[in-house]
Amino acid sequence: MGRIQLKQVKKSFGDVTVIPPLDLEINDGEFVVFVGPSGCGKSTLLRLIAGLEDMTAGTIEIDGQDATSLPPAKRKLAMVFQSYALYPHMTVRKNIAFPMRMAGMDQAEQDKRIASAAKALNLTDYLDRRPGQLSGGQRQRVAIGRAIVREPEAFLFDEPLSNLDAALRVGMRMEISELHKKLATTMVYVTHDQVEAMTMADKIVVLQAGVIEQVGSPLDLYRAPRNKFVAGFIGSPK
Ligand code: ADP
Ligand code: MG
Repeated sequence: MGRIQLKQVKKSFGDVTVIPPLDLEINDGEFVVFVGPSGCGKSTLLRLIAGLEDMTAGTIEIDGQDATSLPPAKRKLAMVFQSYALYPHMTVRKNIAFPMRMAGMDQAEQDKRIASAAKALNLTDYLDRRPGQLSGGQRQRVAIGRAIVREPEAFLFDEPLSNLDAALRVGMRMEISELHKKLATTMVYVTHDQVEAMTMADKIVVLQAGVIEQVGSPLDLYRAPRNKFVAGFIGSPK
């Protein structure tokens, strides 16, 4: 499961509307990328889905249930923050265990989930290290591990690779795609990077000033961009 439906979702900060009412459907297991220039509302939209911002109007359904007024912890979604959100004084194991400890999960179940996340992320040999003893890519994998152990219905990523250098970004891109294949869980991924969008997405949502300009597969957008903005942004020949 992991189907997310936004219906006439609107967000204003004071008098300023950053997201006029929009509809969006994210299917179970889909890798959906929100792409658009800085300030177009990608993070706000993701935070609305996560429940970290209240919507001004509209509703959100997760797996067919109205989740509009559910707090983040009850939405069964896991937000992956950038790798610097790790606790530097804790080992990898403790960092990954953190959300489970907060939830009071029993130790045997915690150990099982840590082992399984570490295996999926190739971190088994690093569980006793601290973040300072890891590479940037390994730190990012730990941040993802912390989301995996919650066994969410969907992962929400906000520009998770923006702190990494170009070479590492390519590798992490492939790792996240690989993880999506392994887990088959819905992933919603925010980026301003067209290459990330075109190479990772099942479905791309192109945003400009809070408005969805087009939704489609990378090939759809490349072959049939709806307007100049989409064509220019995606690098399509139109
Ligand atoms: P993106 O992630 O695409 O760069 P954001 O979602 O962060 O864009 O921001 C969209 C718009 O909303 C921007 O104009 C930004 O300044 C504004 N905005 C975001 N958060 C707040 C806030 N808490 N208060 C006021 N304005 C905000
Ligand atoms: Mg942002």
